[in-house]
Amino acid sequence: PETKSSRKHIAVLAFPFGTHATPLLGFVRRISEAASDAKFSFFSTAQSNAVLLANRGEVERVKFLDVDSGLPNGYVFNKSDPNAPVVYFLKATPGNFERAVEIVVAETGMEFSCFISDAFMWFAAEMAEKRRVPWIALWTSGPRSLLVHLHTDFLRERLGINGPGEQTLEFFPGLSEIRAMDLPEGLVSGPLDEGVPLLLHKMGQILPKAAAVAANSYEELDLPDVNKLMKTRLPKFLNIGPFTLSSLLLPASDEYCCLEWLEKREKSSVAYISFGSVIQPPLPELTALAEALEARKTPFLWSFRGNPTEQLPLGFLQRTSVYGKMVPWAPQIKILQHSSVGVFVTHGGWNSILESIIGGVPMICRPFFGDQKLNERTLETVWGIGLGIEGRKFTKDGTMKALEVVLCSEQGKIMREKIAVLKKLAFQAVESEGSSTANFKAVMELITKT
Ligand code: UDP
Repeated sequence: PETKSSRKHIAVLAFPFGTHATPLLGFVRRISEAASDAKFSFFSTAQSNAVLLANRGEVERVKFLDVDSGLPNGYVFNKSDPNAPVVYFLKATPGNFERAVEIVVAETGMEFSCFISDAFMWFAAEMAEKRRVPWIALWTSGPRSLLVHLHTDFLRERLGINGPGEQTLEFFPGLSEIRAMDLPEGLVSGPLDEGVPLLLHKMGQILPKAAAVAANSYEELDLPDVNKLMKTRLPKFLNIGPFTLSSLLLPASDEYCCLEWLEKREKSSVAYISFGSVIQPPLPELTALAEALEARKTPFLWSFRGNPTEQLPLGFLQRTSVYGKMVPWAPQIKILQHSSVGVFVTHGGWNSILESIIGGVPMICRPFFGDQKLNERTLETVWGIGLGIEGRKFTKDGTMKALEVVLCSEQGKIMREKIAVLKKLAFQAVESEGSSTANFKAVMELITKT
């Protein structure tokens, strides 16, 4: 008979901002399918857990537990300081997770047999070590951005800390096209002693202790040199994605009937626009983007965070209503797989890029922070599957030009061909003999042998 101690009890520590917790939950869901004797305690903030539950529903054998968000009583979100919740949260770590973990152990009488965490939550290494169990980290972005975080000290030595310049990383095999100005902000400038820069620096130092670092990507996506360089630092780095193809989570719903609307459009004609879950471009750029769409009469489907009536030019919504659709949230994965979509105007978040590849849709990228500039540079100069917007800001002219190139030119056609190749490789990676499938099995071995 099953005893409490014969069952696996796995602690999962989420990073509760941006699109981090969803892929982590997708990873957990897959592990739970493969290890039917495992139970999971999924730790995140109340707000993040509520969003996950609302969007994805209950997940079998996964219990959602809330940790302290660190926000002061009565805290009200202030648009002018959007990063404040992250800073408060980081100040509350790791104590908030430690306390929540201990309460669960006391209440269930079950010790944890493994810790899985978002790679950002590097202190999970110490929590696992203390209990002599393995730690598996999930890197939710691409291998390139992890590589640069793993080499922060080295890059600071080579490039100095005078801020982002044009000098390239030619000394890094595989990353020679990347310029200092494409690196995540704070990597080669400013102090590393608090907040997110401290978190990422610590993460880079501690990740080599992980039993495995899994990532939402696939080996065939990038240059062999990138993989090689990664393995020298993290021998147990395992690409197990793209999650879009392997996730067992419930798909997002289509409450605003986007797919029905796309059905009525011509093939590869629509610009799908979304800047992910965090970003709202500044007003002048929203205006420029709207003006460019209207001037070209480009059919568009825009997932808009905010109030379009207030934030877009007067009358824009009426004038474009025949060929444009605005929604507050869209089933992006399905949209990008629809044949009417011809271009994705994106901030270059990692999930968005992978979803666009799976859909075979070239991108126009307006990066904002974190890994987005690095992603933009890579998709333009290395993979040739999209364009960065001129000057990294939307202007009416720059946006019109970019739309023209991707939707109507020979260069756009070549982008579509190149992305079709990457798409095929992605599907192959998750087949039964594929690289991501093999890597996922390797992760499972680590989890089940404990
Ligand atoms: N997304 C969505 N509908 C929307 C906008 C975004 O489903 O209207 C999803 C999208 O499919 C992706 C995620 O939100 O999985 C955005 O992740 P990404 O890494 O691109 O950006 P972040 O939200 O972390 O900035």
